[in-house]
Amino acid sequence: MSSRMVLRMAMILCTLPVGLAGCKARGKEAPAVVTQPPFMSAVASAPPQTADDAPAPDKTGGFDGKRAFAHVAKQVSFGPRPSGSPAIAEVQEYLLSELKSYGCPVETDSFGSDTPAGRIAMKNILVKISGDRPGVILLGTHYDTKRLENFVGADDSGSSTGVMLELARLLCPQHGKYAVWIAFFDGEEAVNLAWKDPDNRYGSRQMAAKFATAGDIPKIKAFLLADIVGGRNLHFKRESDSTKWLKDLVWKTAHQLGYQSIFLDKEFPVSDDHLSFLSRNVPSVDVIDLDNGPNGDVYYWHTPQDTLDKISAKSLAVVGHVFLESVKQLQAK
Ligand SMILES: [Zn+2]
Repeated sequence: MSSRMVLRMAMILCTLPVGLAGCKARGKEAPAVVTQPPFMSAVASAPPQTADDAPAPDKTGGFDGKRAFAHVAKQVSFGPRPSGSPAIAEVQEYLLSELKSYGCPVETDSFGSDTPAGRIAMKNILVKISGDRPGVILLGTHYDTKRLENFVGADDSGSSTGVMLELARLLCPQHGKYAVWIAFFDGEEAVNLAWKDPDNRYGSRQMAAKFATAGDIPKIKAFLLADIVGGRNLHFKRESDSTKWLKDLVWKTAHQLGYQSIFLDKEFPVSDDHLSFLSRNVPSVDVIDLDNGPNGDVYYWHTPQDTLDKISAKSLAVVGHVFLESVKQLQAK
């Protein structure tokens, strides 16, 4: 994902000899060159790698933050998971075996993408829970990690993938008015260091195109995307391009649940998988914490510091709770 506001600046700076993550810092208020977290942030995040802060599931609509955290730990244990790697194949097996164990109906789509590094094999995974009437509520995450040395992506993309697995466990046994589909996208991250179309969102573009061919696009009432949702200092701003009524629904739901200190009433532009659906007129919202400045929530974004100690089971549970309640609100529409 990226903040387009500073893209041009970042592209200029990318010509400079910066570190691994340098060109990728795209938070609006973030400098484009950030290679190391500041000393104080590193100290402040001294690491519990536990799910001890998880609220009891009955406080978060049944969503189990400990389970979601365990899913993040499992993904991190596979190491760096860029598209086409042996490690991402392990993630795919893990996702499929978990989803099947919850009784979820699952479809996979294996495809090849032409990237700056050549053709790369990718796989989208889609849970399809049926409903009584035409209409689909789509949830989504990406599960690939950025091609960076020693980058294990606990928060990006482990956190949102863990949340979606736990949501699938809860939603697959349910049957609502509308269908609920849960998408696990491959290939969100740019293969090059810089985020520059069309070198990004390979999986979501593929899925949106397939939906269009099948005539499914008009059935999608709403697309709720989660990305970078597990940090220990979590704040979400309203993503600028996301559909207003859907942002309002999610934010109102979050505030009613008591999470107004996390779901902020500020705007922030981010390029992410929701664009693949927004461009096809699907109402979409991106729930993402991309506050990646030196003192930001996710100062470790796209650096080797994106490790399990940065993840809070409570944050995962808050996001899961808000998504569950938002799905209920959408089912009542
Ligand atoms: Zn990323």
